[in-house]
This record gives sequence, structure tokens and C-alpha cells, in this order.
Amino acid sequence: MNLLIMGPPGAGKGTQAEVLVKELQITHISTGDMFRNAIKEGTEMGKKAREYMDRGELVPDEVVVGMVKDRLSQPDCAKGFLLDGFPRTLPQARALDETLPSMGIKLDGVINIDVPRERLMARLTGRRVCKNCGASYHILFNPPQTPGKCNACGGELYQRSDDNEEAVANRLDVYEAQTQPLIDYYKEKGLLKNINGDQEIGKVLADILASLK
Ligand code: ADP
Ligand code: AMP
Repeated sequence: MNLLIMGPPGAGKGTQAEVLVKELQITHISTGDMFRNAIKEGTEMGKKAREYMDRGELVPDEVVVGMVKDRLSQPDCAKGFLLDGFPRTLPQARALDETLPSMGIKLDGVINIDVPRERLMARLTGRRVCKNCGASYHILFNPPQTPGKCNACGGELYQRSDDNEEAVANRLDVYEAQTQPLIDYYKEKGLLKNINGDQEIGKVLADILASLK
């Protein structure tokens, strides 16, 4: 199964993706995680991406599109994939539409996690992420069993540099201006699965799985 997961920053895409890919036995591709890994490794692309990410802006389309095309051609995507955080602009969506058929891949669905804007600031400023495996926690809404440590791998939890109030406010504006139009784009293609993300994590997961049946 080849899927996209969309929604504003803080909607719960990463949280749901972590469980969904295990359940569906498919590969998780998060463009945000790929950029954070590139930053950690000190690559040229990482250095360039960091300037945009810290301001809460989007990395230029041509950089992201090239990176995703390379990733989709890797063997672990053949069993199916869940693309998280891509596409985020109409040009990215059109580039994906051109690329997939040429690779013999068909998109099966687009999961859109819907959460009202007023919930997102608290979700993002309280988010803590595992340095090792990228799992996402929240200091109040989804705390780890041991403070500061990942339940899954014991890794150290940290706060993302773009999860501060200023960058979050900008990311939410950028989402509304550039990414939200993609909801209609995929609705018109008959691929959209709208999910209420303003409920507890387990219920959101159950609704997503039901929408894929
Ligand atoms: P995204 O990948 O969409 O940016 P995350 O999955 O990292 O979002 O979730 C953002 C924050 O909100 C995290 O701190 C996460 O623990 C928390 N969170 C995720 N889903 C829910 C939910 N259904 N209710 C409350 N908090 C949630
Ligand atoms: P995320 O982890 O999905 O919240 O992404 C973190 C940041 O990475 C975003 O705020 C952007 O700066 C950058 N990024 C991730 N995916 C994309 C994309 N598809 N297009 C442009 N920038 C992206």
C-alpha cells in the first residue's frame, strides 16, 4: 500500500506513522526526518535546509523533490510506503504525480489528519523527540514512561529547534498558505481520507485503519 499522511505541523503525523508502518509493513519516509539526519551528518544539503527549518519556512521545492525521488527508488519502498511531510506545495504534488507512474507506482490513499489551529501550539511546544529513533512524545499529552527517555529504544529525548513559539507560528501560517490547498487537490482525485485528529491517539489510529479498509 502506498500512502501519504498530511495535516498541519503537530497534527500527529509522526506519532501515527510510527505505528501505521508496523501495522501495514510499509516503509516510513519523513522528509523532516531526512533533513534532520542530513543536518546531524553535516552534509551540504543539511546546512542549506537548516536555515529554512529554523525559521519555520519550507525548504525549496527542487531540493525536496530530488531527495524524495532518490528515496522512492530505494528497494525498501517496493513493499509500500507512507510519505510523511511531503508533498507540502502544489508544485511538489505535481512533481510526485509525474514521478510515480514513471516508477510504476500508484498512490492508494491520502490520510489527512485534521486538528484545529488553536490546539497545535501546545502540542508543538510540548513535543519531545527521541534523538536516536525519532519517536515523538509530549510532556503532558503523551509522556514517556521515564522522563527524558524513549519508551521504544531508551534514547535521549530533546526539543526540536523549530518547536519554539516564533517558528511554530510561522510554520502554521506557511501550512495554511501553501499546504492546505493540497486537501482539495487530493479530494478531487478521490484519494482523500479525512480523519479527526482532535481525539486521543489510539482513537485517531483506529479511525485511520478503518478508513483504509
Ligand atoms: P507531526 O508529525 O504531525 O508534526 P507529531 O506526531 O510529532 O506531529 O505530534 C505533535 C505533538 O502532539 C507530539 O508532542 C505528540 O506527542 C502530540 N500528539 C500527537 N497526537 C496527539 C493526540 N491525538 N492528542 C494529543 N497530543 C498528540
Ligand atoms: P516536519 O518534521 O515535517 O515538521 O518538517 C520540519 C521542517 O523541514 C519544515 O518546517 C520544513 O522546513 C522542512 N521540510 C520538511 N518537509 C518539507 C517539504 N516537503 N517541503 C519543504 N520543506 C520541508
